[in-house]
This record gives sequence, C-alpha cells and structure tokens, in this order.
Amino acid sequence: MANIELKQLKGIGPSVVEKLNLIGIFNLRDLCFHLPFGYQDRTKISNISDLHPGDERLIKVKIISAQSIYRPRKMMVLKAADSYSNINIRFFYFHPAQTKQLKAGIELLCYGKVSLSRYGLEMIHPEYEVIANDHELKDKKLTPVYRVPKGIGQKKIRGFIQSAISKLNFEEDFLNVERYDASLNMKIIDALGIIHNPEANIDIDEILPGGSHPARVRLLKEEMIAFQAGMTFLKSKQKRNHAFSLTKESDWTAEVKSNFPFKLTRAQAKVISEIKEDLSQEVPMMRLVQGDVGSGKTVVGALAAALALDSSFQVAFMAPTTLLAEQHYLSLKSFFCKHTEKIILLTGSTSTSKRKKILQDLKDSKIKLVIGTHALFQKNVEFSNLALIIIDEQHRFGVNQRLALRKKNGSERSAPHQLTLTATPIPRTLSMSVYANMDVSVIDELPPGRKPIQTSCLPLSAKDRLIKRISAAIKKDSKVYWICPLIEESENLDLNAVMETHEDLSEHFGQDKVGCLHGKLSALKKQDQIQAFKDSKTSILVSTTVVEVGVDIPDADIMVIENAERFGLAQLHQLRGRIGRGSKESYCILLHKDKIQDISAQRLKVLVDSQDGFKIAEEDLVIRGPGEIMGAQQTGIVPMKYTNLVRDSQYLMETKKVAESICNEDPELANQLIERWISGSIAFADA
Ligand code: ADP
Ligand code: MG
Repeated sequence: MANIELKQLKGIGPSVVEKLNLIGIFNLRDLCFHLPFGYQDRTKISNISDLHPGDERLIKVKIISAQSIYRPRKMMVLKAADSYSNINIRFFYFHPAQTKQLKAGIELLCYGKVSLSRYGLEMIHPEYEVIANDHELKDKKLTPVYRVPKGIGQKKIRGFIQSAISKLNFEEDFLNVERYDASLNMKIIDALGIIHNPEANIDIDEILPGGSHPARVRLLKEEMIAFQAGMTFLKSKQKRNHAFSLTKESDWTAEVKSNFPFKLTRAQAKVISEIKEDLSQEVPMMRLVQGDVGSGKTVVGALAAALALDSSFQVAFMAPTTLLAEQHYLSLKSFFCKHTEKIILLTGSTSTSKRKKILQDLKDSKIKLVIGTHALFQKNVEFSNLALIIIDEQHRFGVNQRLALRKKNGSERSAPHQLTLTATPIPRTLSMSVYANMDVSVIDELPPGRKPIQTSCLPLSAKDRLIKRISAAIKKDSKVYWICPLIEESENLDLNAVMETHEDLSEHFGQDKVGCLHGKLSALKKQDQIQAFKDSKTSILVSTTVVEVGVDIPDADIMVIENAERFGLAQLHQLRGRIGRGSKESYCILLHKDKIQDISAQRLKVLVDSQDGFKIAEEDLVIRGPGEIMGAQQTGIVPMKYTNLVRDSQYLMETKKVAESICNEDPELANQLIERWISGSIAFADA
C-alpha cells in the first residue's frame, strides 16, 4: 500500500504527480492521509434572509434579471431571489456562453461567500449549477476542503483521495495498536472515512484540528505514538554508538578560565558539570541546554569545546547565521587566544581558495576548532577526529541538517558528542517529547548585576518626541539598536524601510553616527557595521532582525523596535535580549501603529510586564492560541502530518507511554507505525 505509486490512479499522469509531490504527496498513502483543513456544507439550502456577510452557503435562486455592465469595469450582475428575499450575484470574468445561459427565469444552485455591498447582499463568483425546478440535492455529506498545489482544483484532489481510500485495504489497517491503547480501537479506514467524508450533521469543529471527535483523536494519537516510537528508537540507537571519552583538562580549559572575565553563575556551573559527566562517557552525549537570552550559553559551549580540544580532538561549532558565526568566531578566538591558528571560520561567504585550504586542514587535523554555518553540513567537509558538535540556537536548523552533521564523524564506529544550545522556551512536557532523544539542562538564572530592561509602548505619532529623548541619551553615551521589521515575502520593501529609516536618523544624528545592517550586505560589511557600533564609532545601528540572535554588545542600552505589533512575542523577546547585557540601565521602546487592535496591545503589554522567556511563551500561548507559538512548527523539529505538538500536547504523556511499551514489546509494530506516519519526513532509520 505504502508504495503504490500515484500514477496507478485514474487521471494521474506525470504532470499531476509532479504537482502533488510539491505538497508532500508521493504515494497513495500520502493521499489518504492528506486531511482537509475545512469543510463546506452543500447539503442544505439556506434562505437568503438567513445569510450574513462572511457566511459560505448554498442557496437556490431564480434569476429575476441579468445584465452586463461596463462601469467601473466589465461585469455581469444577476438579480436573483428565493421565495422571500433578493440577492445580487456578480461575475467579473465570464464567457459569452454564460451571458446567453443565465437569463431571467433560470433557476440556480449557488455556493459561495456572502458579502454586503451598498446594493445589499451579494455573492461574488459563486460556484453555480443550472437546475430544474424539482431538483434534489445530490450532496448528503459535507464537502472537504484540502490544501492543493497550484494547478489542481478541489474537485480533482477530492476525487484522487476518494479513490486512494477505496484502495486502502484491510491489511494496511491491521496494525494491532489497540492492544496497547484501547482508545485506538476504531479502524483507521473508518477514521479516515469520517474525516474525509463527514455526515452533514457532524459538529465540524470536532473533526477539525484541535477537535476531539474520536476519529480525529484516533489519527492524532497514532501519529504521536509513531513519532515518539521514532524518538525512542533514535535515542537507543544513538546510545549504541561509541564516542570518545573526554576527561582531560589542560591548556584550552585553562585559557577559557583565565580569559573569561566573570565568575560562572551557579546555573552555568551546574550545566557544565552535567556536560562534563556526559563527555566522560563512551556513549555520545546528546544534551540540550535551554537558557533564556543573555543567560550565558556561549561560555558553556566554550568550556565544553575546551574539553574535547584538550584531548586533541576536533570540535565543530555551528551557528544559524553568518553574522552569528562571525561573532562566535571572535569570542572563541578571544577565549582561546593562544591557539588562534587552530581556529577557523567557515561560512557561505568564505572564498573558494580559502575554503579549499580549510577543508584540507580539517582533514589533516591542523584545524581543531571550526566555527560555521550550514556550510559545515556540506558533503565535502570532512574531519579527521571530530569529537564534539555544538549547535547554537538549534531551532533555526532543520532536523535533517542536524542529522547530516552528526554523520560527519571521521571514524566509522564512533559518533561525536552533541551539545545543543537554545533560548527557545517551550513547555516542559513538550520538550520532554520533542527532545525525547536528548537530555535537557536548563540555565535558570541570569548573570548577576543585570538591571531589568524598562520596556514601554509608544505610538508612531510620538516618534519625534522619541528622537529627542534618544538624542539626549546619546550625549550620555547610550548605544541604540533601531530595528525595522523584516517581512519575508518582500525583502525589497524591507530594505527600503531600513534605508529610509537610516536616512531619516542620519539627518537627525549625523551620517557618521548611524550604522546600517541588513541581510543584503556582504559578510565583511556586516562585520564592519557591528564593529563600528561595538567601538562606539556609531551610536545608532539601524538593522533588520538579523541582529535577533547572538549579537553581543554589552554596552548597547536602548532598543527601538518599529512596527512591534507585527512581530511574534518570542521574537520580540529575542530582539530585546540584545540589550540589558551589561550593568547599564536599558530601555526597549516598542513603536506601534497609532491604532492597534486590542489583542495586539495586550500582546505587547506582556512584554512590558515580563522579561521571563518561559512566561512570555506561555502568555503568547494563551493569547494567540497554541497553533502559533514558536513551538514545534516554527522550530521545524518534526514535520508531522496531523499533529501540532503544541496544540495537542495534552496527549503527549499518554502516547509516550504507549510508544515505549510498543518499542519494548513489539519493535516490528513500532517500525510499521513509523513507516506509516513519519518515514518520509525524518531519517529515524539511519540517524
Ligand atoms: P546567550 O547566548 O545565552 O544569550 P551570551 O553567552 O551571549 O548569552 O552571554 C550574554 C552576555 O553575558 C555576554 O556579554 C557574556 O559575556 C555575559 N556573561 C556570560 N556569563 C556571565 C557571567 N557568569 N557573569 C557575568 N556575565 C556573563
Ligand atoms: Mg547565544
């Protein structure tokens, strides 16, 4: 079943296959599990008098008059009515044949969205059907609506899915999971039947994501079990690998200790001792360190690296952006200042000739510590004796990328230790499952002496006043980040925003006092801009969100975020984490449109009131609903078909137990479940 190819279905040729592939559908099973995101009710006819703008409804009407008009643009307007009321039906695109067909007296069945114009209720471009007077409705069930690739309509995909389901045989269904969880006793084919073809009287919310209809819960739980079984397997597989035991502490460790100007916090020390314990073992460490922005994760990474380096092994330090990789490169070089010739930076912007030499030096183990971006994942990067991988801000990397790096151990038999640093605060039950293959440490304390950041909201109309205040602050040596939003869909517009703001502020503060940072600058220019700001040559750094992670300039003390209402709370928190890193009193000003919705104001207030990443994440969850927090989806941990690990977290614990029993007692069943649900999305097998 799993492998039945798409082209075995009637109506599917190579070009359709290609399109379906685009949305992750590769075989018949994928089609069966491609679930609707909404439903239309075409089983009942609504009275026009009961319609409200925004409704999507089926109506049965008689055309009273039909008219083509040309002002302001060409359109066809039908005046139509049922027994009680009138409605206008409007088409902007139509064929001459339609004008001939749609005449007064004709009866129509129309399905579409209701809107309100100054002429009354309207349907614009409804789907319609000309019917006879005694027409009976064909649809007895709700009509599912699916995500479709460009070029494939709803009707088509519905047809494909129906025929795929009719081919789903009982053998496929016969995974005896209910033996482990009685609540799974509904047959999977019945569950799919209900979700793809629900009866008209069903409560739609119950079968949509977040609903609690048994059919939905049936599918959801099985996917969660499969996912957790995968994680369980992954963990035991990792633990079967051999790793180098790293216990020696000499030069490198001594160097960090003498060059790090602070005393470690209690939390840092605790996490480091956990890491040391892991590294002394001959099984690979898989440890995740969670610590809020500014909690001091970098030095933890450096001390872990030193342990491997002291035993003459190689270390790879990964950062999600070139900018951050460069920052880390500089800080690590300053920690290990006696070994700088053994430390190198490798990013997408490294020149080909340099790169060639670096690759050779890595192979020959002349370079011991490499800091880089995803460029480190590439196939031709080979190590001689890589013993430790450190991944900073891991939520920026996809699972598969991380797996790729893990395979880069020079020796066949042994795997490198892995240390992951992240600021993404996610609820505990969630992290226990999502990171089930890792051990988790938490840095639950900030370095001493930090003053809380004063955060305030300000409408755009008060910008002039703000500029005056900033002007005064700069005279007293303040340093200001000025953040302009970055909207992915239109990089150019954003660039404009940054340029304009830069120009604006330059007028106020002088050209040479205002720096400018954005994604389109070359790596070198970016570094220049940061350095100038660091060295206080500039006092204001206008930037996009490229400074979001990792940039560390402790004496920057003011941050202005424009259009703050457009950002997610977690992102605002990350951004704000760039200030308040030193002993100065710091200020974050959230500039927003003059008129914002209550909910936006409420969200920004969370940030004004709290500086605790976990708390902010939780509040975000309450206000926005679970679908949107920077949980599993954004972190790209695992692309799941049906489950949203945040929204559906109530099922995590019970399914985890079931998954563990299945893995212990019936690994074959576990494999089948993994195959059914997540085989395509994650390389559990060869991780
Ligand atoms: P994170 O990566 O967790 O956001 P960083 O590692 O960038 O945080 O550290 C933030 C700032 O705090 C840096 O300027 C760093 O030098 C400083 N710092 C780290 N640990 C301590 C400590 N124990 N005492 C004082 N300052 C510290
Ligand atoms: Mg960091």
